Amino acid sequence: MALTFKGGLHPNGSKITARFPIEVMPDPQTVSIAMSQHIGAPCTHTVKKGDRVLKGQIIGLSDSPLTCPVHASVSGTVTSIVDRVGAAGQKIVHVVIENDFKSEYSPDIKENTKALAEHSFEEIVEIVKNAGIAGMGGASFPTYFKIASAKDKVTKLIVNCAECEPYITANHRLMLEKPEEIVKGIRIVMHALGIQECDVAVEDNKLDAVRVLENTLAGDDKIKVKVLKTKYPQGDERQLIYALDKIEIPAGKLPADVGRIVINAETSAAICHAFYSGMPLINRIITVTGNCVANPKNLLVPIGASFTDIIEFCGGYTGEVEKIISGGPMMGFAQWDENAPVVKGTASILTFKKENKKTAFENCIHCGKCVGSCPMRLMPLYFASFAKLGDFEACREFDVLSCVECGCCTYQCPGNVPIVQYIRTAKGKLRK
Ligand code: SF4
Ligand code: SF4
Repeated sequence: MALTFKGGLHPNGSKITARFPIEVMPDPQTVSIAMSQHIGAPCTHTVKKGDRVLKGQIIGLSDSPLTCPVHASVSGTVTSIVDRVGAAGQKIVHVVIENDFKSEYSPDIKENTKALAEHSFEEIVEIVKNAGIAGMGGASFPTYFKIASAKDKVTKLIVNCAECEPYITANHRLMLEKPEEIVKGIRIVMHALGIQECDVAVEDNKLDAVRVLENTLAGDDKIKVKVLKTKYPQGDERQLIYALDKIEIPAGKLPADVGRIVINAETSAAICHAFYSGMPLINRIITVTGNCVANPKNLLVPIGASFTDIIEFCGGYTGEVEKIISGGPMMGFAQWDENAPVVKGTASILTFKKENKKTAFENCIHCGKCVGSCPMRLMPLYFASFAKLGDFEACREFDVLSCVECGCCTYQCPGNVPIVQYIRTAKGKLRK
């Protein structure tokens, strides 16, 4: 029987791009690269207007222990350093580069000729750090920090291939087309941490990917492919660990506290690239879909490419666009700027037509559906009510900080209460 967790829901998958192979988008005329694409301290730009930069060159750094360097994704000239609003609404410095289309790589990018077995833990952490890898499932936590803080604490690696958000198929295509890159990344992390066990967790709506991964792993008894029931939010770390091992992570604790480290499928492939070819994280696979784009695609795009350029490459809009979402429909962020640039955590761009707009009224009818669907077993209706009244301390008492913002409550709510928006407001106020 497929493994699963308590709560959650079954939204329409809408994964129409699952059969579309990954295409490579040509580098655009300009890229706009955010100096903060990760959880932690933002980087300071190390280049100025007029500088020539090379592909893969570091252009943003910070001294903070929790950060992630940023690299140029094209070669060319820095034309401006600007402040612009990021996907989640915060102001971020961006370095704008005019592409010279020479695709000249930084001399710092070097192939690694030393065998994996000869690498120390510290060397691997350094490689992952210098490559600027941040979790590519959306959370954007610096991967080197996750690996470093797991040392001597974890016994099992879990590779998150659930891809439970509707519409998104980028990881699915990666598993089908480049499974060996995911597996090489896994072996690097296992070697670094001295781990002897790994579960590659895939939902049962991707059984073709399960077969491909099992073939790639044939003869390896340390890495197992585990099939999970298709249910949202199966890809949340806590639900994943519960489904696989029936371990509940206590509130305020992390996977490492229960002996687990979880990395996303594409993050694992990025570790492989960084380790073997020295290539930093300068591009990623995204799914471009929704009912308002002419040719939905899975695309390899440079970090910093604008949503406008990407949608144009996909044939443009098919009508008046009502909403553009960066990320999935459940946890993603609606965009107010269609020129927003892709960052390391952008898994998809969703476009929706005008007629999809719901007539909004907001009224809790105390049906309890939000409580029943909450995988964290919280009381979402209270968060909405208290946050609406501005009583954020009451939200804290009801444990709002344990909310993983999966959006199940909002999706289920017949009263159209924007519960997650209230939760985000409450968490923001409490953290301040
Ligand atoms: S699902 Fe919506 S209407 Fe039902 S109890 Fe929760 S907030 Fe109220
Ligand atoms: S309260 Fe948080 S964790 Fe629970 S369903 Fe809503 S968004 Fe998800």
